[in-house]
Amino acid sequence: MSPMNRKPWIIGNWKMNGNLQDNLSYFEQLKNDKDIQKLSSINIGLAIPYPYLAQAQQHMPSAIVLGAQDISPSESGARTSEVSGAMLNDFDCRFTLVGHSERRQFWQESSAVVAAKANQALSHAITPVICIGENEEQRHANEVEKVLEQQLTAVTSRLEGDINQCIIAYEPVWAIGTGKTASPQIAQAVHAFIRSLVEGDVPILYGGSVNMENSTSLFNMPDIDGVLVGGASLEAASFLNIIKNYPK
Ligand code: PEP
Repeated sequence: MSPMNRKPWIIGNWKMNGNLQDNLSYFEQLKNDKDIQKLSSINIGLAIPYPYLAQAQQHMPSAIVLGAQDISPSESGARTSEVSGAMLNDFDCRFTLVGHSERRQFWQESSAVVAAKANQALSHAITPVICIGENEEQRHANEVEKVLEQQLTAVTSRLEGDINQCIIAYEPVWAIGTGKTASPQIAQAVHAFIRSLVEGDVPILYGGSVNMENSTSLFNMPDIDGVLVGGASLEAASFLNIIKNYPK
């Protein structure tokens, strides 16, 4: 799947949530929604926890693109607990998050590891969604551009494929799961800066407490090519509302 053009994306990230029974009812709600079957102007994706990929592959409507939340930086072999790109291929995962701030924070994931994960994804024709974002301290210290440039170039300088085969997600850490969304103007300014750092037409998504109320004004910004949604994607109804808010 090539994200070469800037066709917008709405991606839900379930994080470590879900169970077999609730997932089934979630997928049923998506299936029963006639509107999303007809949406061709946006890509809709769900990043599902590994154990539920098979269930999602079987029950998710085909209008939704299946994705993973992570990928191993290694190809195969003695890497206990890791999930490889080839395994994700078995479930038709078309994209995977890499470098989510929770991975960087709780597993001390370095940019070198994020780059290796992006390369594994690319080598298996899986689109890496490269997550970058500053924390609150860095924002207050006026270091947003410096931090983002470091995070991004640390990955792009190691990339063995084309950045235009990737998606970038700007996720300010202070906005993730906090209810504090970046204003559309702040997000737009950062997205324009990120765009100035990459050649081509890479989709740049915004993530951080996106919900039904704030999504439309974010969608309307010229350099915001969609959203990555955590908490508000956990209920099918609220995820569907965000999708339906996308301007026609
Ligand atoms: C995320 O974790 O990618 C995210 C954006 O979470 P939330 O929407 O809950 O802030």
